[in-house]
Amino acid sequence: MAIETAIRTFKNLIGGEWTESSSGRTFDSINPANKTEVVGRFQASVEDDVVQAIESAEKAFPAWKAVAPSKRAEMLYKAAVLLETGLEQYAEELTREEGKTLAASRMEVKRSAQTLRYYASEGLNIAGDTLPSDDPTTFVYTKKEPLGVVTVITPWNFPISIPVRKIAPALAAGNTVVFKPASDTPLIAFRLVEALHNAGLPAGVINFVTGSASKTGVPLVSHPAVKAVTFTGSTGAGENIRRNVRLSARIQMELGGKNPLIVLEDADLDHAVELAVKGGFELTGQACTGTSRVIVMEQVHDAFVEKLIARAKTLTIGNGLSGEAEIGPLANESQLNNVLDYVAIGQAEGAELAYGGERIDEGEYANGYFVRPAIFTGVRPDMRIAQEEIFGPVISVIRVKCFKNAIRVANDVEYGLSASIVTSDYNRMQYFIDHIQSGIVKVNRTTTGNALNVPFGGLKMSSTATFRESGREALDFYTHSKTVYHGIQELKFCCSK
Ligand code: NAP
Repeated sequence: MAIETAIRTFKNLIGGEWTESSSGRTFDSINPANKTEVVGRFQASVEDDVVQAIESAEKAFPAWKAVAPSKRAEMLYKAAVLLETGLEQYAEELTREEGKTLAASRMEVKRSAQTLRYYASEGLNIAGDTLPSDDPTTFVYTKKEPLGVVTVITPWNFPISIPVRKIAPALAAGNTVVFKPASDTPLIAFRLVEALHNAGLPAGVINFVTGSASKTGVPLVSHPAVKAVTFTGSTGAGENIRRNVRLSARIQMELGGKNPLIVLEDADLDHAVELAVKGGFELTGQACTGTSRVIVMEQVHDAFVEKLIARAKTLTIGNGLSGEAEIGPLANESQLNNVLDYVAIGQAEGAELAYGGERIDEGEYANGYFVRPAIFTGVRPDMRIAQEEIFGPVISVIRVKCFKNAIRVANDVEYGLSASIVTSDYNRMQYFIDHIQSGIVKVNRTTTGNALNVPFGGLKMSSTATFRESGREALDFYTHSKTVYHGIQELKFCCSK
């Protein structure tokens, strides 16, 4: 039974007004470390709410487009300050609703403020080109313009940093936004929208609708006023969304991963183990760039596995608020069941469960979705646990005999988001960089983690093959280009000198 005392109800933001859903219904955001705790109550929006939000964004667009870029930047800077001012409160709320450790939540909120500042500044640099013209009476140049209404749909695993890396460039470029967060993490999404609203964004520039994808998804992406849809989430949901987006709207999707860490025989094994643990188990394995396959050369396989298990045994699992926990709960019940299912699938496929993989539900863990990180050995590359995204703390160790086979195995999945190699051999590093099918390529680093000022995105089924997110390149998605041929009359002078 959920605790029912003092639960605040949060509203949608539509046309600058905090509003209730026309459905008259709400849903609860639950703490995954203690499912008896309701973190907040949110609007169960339906099609009517979505249409109102899109129409208000459409109405606000011409005026927002005309606002001076430096004024738009000022508002983003102010929102960054507001996030930083509330950092401790917001980090705690994020941990309560998503489960990650308080340290990770603090980092995420801080990073979100940095992203707002980054795009406040980059928005001032949106520029076209001037081009040489064969015709001396024609001046040719390109100019960039905002698109209009952008729909933003995001997952729960980075519930503020992913929304902000879409919303900030969209706004900086002069677009208006309709934002639907994941239903598991609406509170921290609300805080972001609140900061933008309080920073002075005009009515209708940012609109916020919470509620299940089944009620809101189709209108959010198929309304004729929507000019772009940016989505991060599972590949399956991405495929569904793509079917509903109009031909006239552009689309950008960041999707699933099955990221490999290759450990060569010359690797510093202690470093390799740290990279595997950080990449595979931190954030409870719930990172799209998380390490889920470790491909190890046979000369060092046994030593690596021994060290990996020893290190996994030292990890502290617990409530992210405790300050001691290194690994929090899974984000929801379906995540827990998914991980436990894959542990069973791996065993049924004949892989050896060398460590962990069991639910922890005694004592202080009784009301949470806790699981012990799992390590599988004896994994064949064609097994489901080596092919399918699990999105939990499960590492499959695959033994290989030669370097080229390691690359082949790493590439033999439908995803291509992030990949890393651990070696000190420069030539094999370079071969890996050239031949790995992955949008993010790391050398002696974790598969997780990305800088806010560089492009981010995957290959194959991990991303749409169009626009990159993050960094300066992100602005390409939020602007279209016009090519202008500006005719100039030849001047007639009254004197010949
Ligand atoms: P999800 O189930 O795909 O949901 C993501 C978001 O999409 C949620 O807001 C969800 O709403 C909404 N949604 C789902 N189906 C929809 C539809 N048909 N139409 C419109 N909206 C729809 O993903 P998740 O479980 O939240 O997140 C985990 C997944 O995200 C993993 O696959 C992970 O790899 C991926 N991810 C990728 C990246 C990246 O950058 N590549 C980063 C982070 C996560 P509801 O919450 O209401 O269902």
